[in-house]
Amino acid sequence: MQFRKYSGGKMYWRSLVGFWVLSWFLCLPAWGQKQLARFEYSQRHMGTLFRVVLYAPDSSRAGQAARAAFKRVADLNHILSDYEKDSELNQLCRMAGTGQWVPGSKDLWYVLKKSVAASERTKGAFDITVGPYVQLWRRARRQGTLPTPEALAQASQAVGYQHLKLNKKGKTVQLAVPYMQLDMGAIGKGYAVDEALKILKKYGIKAALVDGGGNIVVNRPPPGTKGWEINLGISSPTDTTRQLQLLLKHQAVATSGDLYQYLDLNGVRYSHILNPYTGLGLTDQSRVTIIARNGLTADWLSTAVSVLGPQQGLTLADKTPGAAVSFIRQQNHQTQQWLSRRFKKLTSGILKSEKTK
Ligand code: AMP
Ligand code: MG
Repeated sequence: MQFRKYSGGKMYWRSLVGFWVLSWFLCLPAWGQKQLARFEYSQRHMGTLFRVVLYAPDSSRAGQAARAAFKRVADLNHILSDYEKDSELNQLCRMAGTGQWVPGSKDLWYVLKKSVAASERTKGAFDITVGPYVQLWRRARRQGTLPTPEALAQASQAVGYQHLKLNKKGKTVQLAVPYMQLDMGAIGKGYAVDEALKILKKYGIKAALVDGGGNIVVNRPPPGTKGWEINLGISSPTDTTRQLQLLLKHQAVATSGDLYQYLDLNGVRYSHILNPYTGLGLTDQSRVTIIARNGLTADWLSTAVSVLGPQQGLTLADKTPGAAVSFIRQQNHQTQQWLSRRFKKLTSGILKSEKTK
């Protein structure tokens, strides 16, 4: 009896403590969420503005996390930049045509691997070896004249993803032809926003948005909401007055087009996105928006779909898990829009309400 009585008392205390611990844990999320405040930071990196929006319990934790995220982007720039003379990328390019296999850092290797895979999937519509063409077009923009056919033909000798060789075993890289120049302009920022978001998570930040010049990635929605509100101009490549608002979580969105970067010559508008087969800037005045599972995918896909055009581009997006595309093209003062299967599904409610307005 005595034993039973004693045991019963222990049970009572145990359940009381258990109840107290349980209620403490049940209270925690709500208590924690109430304390989260919105913080926003921006810094210039990779030739564009990077913005971090995050929810954190206090400004010191928010600031620490944001600083670490920006530092990661700056470190990646030292690896991936084609502007920085001694970036890892440019050091590799100086070995082009020497026959040497050069070891790559973890980050460089990863982005090169993803880039070659993207080239293979798009049969070269996406190609980071377009560097020699890009340099000709940068000069063309400065001087206001088109690159000559001779200059384009010479540059073409050093372009082609088949000359970019990866040795998986030793994680080494060979650029097989002299004067090759790699350009991460269409994939590097996407990778950087993914990596910045990972750093924020390491610092305990779960609800955050990172925007690297229009390459946006988000994770958990802001407290008390269903997602991050992202505004997209949808009516034409030049008219941003009509906005489509997306609600995203654990997703990325990127837009490619000639809205800001182009060269106007003899009445023709050449985009900074090039067709790697011709070396010419695209002239079809398009704007491609991609929603994808991560920033790197959204970034390269938006450029690839711009080159491929609406038909092949939508097929590519449909075959990419989680990817959705809106392709807008302006020709002869007319705007045409194509939406991929998943884009229609993601935005069906919003687009319907737009039509009925
Ligand atoms: P984005 O704004 O993401 O479409 O990237 C455009 C940038 O990527 C350009 O400024 C070039 O540096 C580079 N680029 C241009 N055309 C291509 C292409 N076809 N494949 C890969 N990179 C490209
Ligand atoms: Mg891109």
